[in-house]
Amino acid sequence: MYDLYKIKDIKNLLQKYNFKFSKGLGQNFISNKYLCPKIVSKCDISDQTGIIEIGPGVGILTCELADKAKKVVSVEIDRNLLPILRETTSQYNNIKFINEDILKINLKELISREFDEFLDLKVCSNLPYYITSQVIIKLLESETKINSLILMVQKEAAERICALPGSRECGSISLFVQYYADAEILFNVSKGNFIPIPKVDSSVIKITKNPHKSLNIKDKNIFFRVVKSTFLHRRKVILSSLNKEFNIDKDEISKILSFCGISKFSRPEQLSFDGFVNLSNSIYDRII
Ligand code: SAM
Repeated sequence: MYDLYKIKDIKNLLQKYNFKFSKGLGQNFISNKYLCPKIVSKCDISDQTGIIEIGPGVGILTCELADKAKKVVSVEIDRNLLPILRETTSQYNNIKFINEDILKINLKELISREFDEFLDLKVCSNLPYYITSQVIIKLLESETKINSLILMVQKEAAERICALPGSRECGSISLFVQYYADAEILFNVSKGNFIPIPKVDSSVIKITKNPHKSLNIKDKNIFFRVVKSTFLHRRKVILSSLNKEFNIDKDEISKILSFCGISKFSRPEQLSFDGFVNLSNSIYDRII
């Protein structure tokens, strides 16, 4: 039996299977004994909860999740980890591993196959950082019954994802997340808690779906065009970004901005979420 909280045991286990860490796959495994229970305690898991985990590594977080949840389905891209996982999780009968790329997987099909009767479904992951935004976009856009995401991500990414409109860190990804959900940083984790030690610190964030957030938005497509086009040139005033994106002349954009109570000298990070909603609704009214 290996104790996954002992670095020596993890190293022996990896050596037994001749496993080599892949930097490209973001393989930095948790090595701190207290971290997994702390993450799992933030998931609000009951014995009826289903969990999708992305990237189990050697299964340290997977086991902790399986102790609390009814079922854990864990998606791992690296097939070299599967024999290791089979060994480290052999005492559990509520874990299933799927050897696929989370970005390519058919999420709806996976959920109807594995979690059809589940009323409470969550995602928990120490994410491979190279796909943080893509995973979050996929999970939120797919409109499934997943109700929350508890994710460990790079600290700077956490600050951007959870940034409130009007703050310096706010960008397209913050507005995208806010369209679907409420997001908060739960706690920070320093880089010494992983093997191998990465270059950056991490944070655990919680994204809770909130369908009410976007009820007032007349057209999702236009909302995201306004967000993306203005943040693409975040140093420019939104007046000129919108003029280019929607091919509406600057005088008219000025009138729309003034109608929405927004200065024509504003830059995107100065707008609130409601500011973006009003602006995109007014543009919708103008072009439809
Ligand atoms: N959960 C483990 C832990 O906390 O110790 C490992 C986390 S490690 C940061 C990221 C994991 O995601 C690795 O096991 C890696 O192989 C896996 N991974 C990387 N890209 C993936 C992808 N596209 N789809 C599924 N898993 C992926």
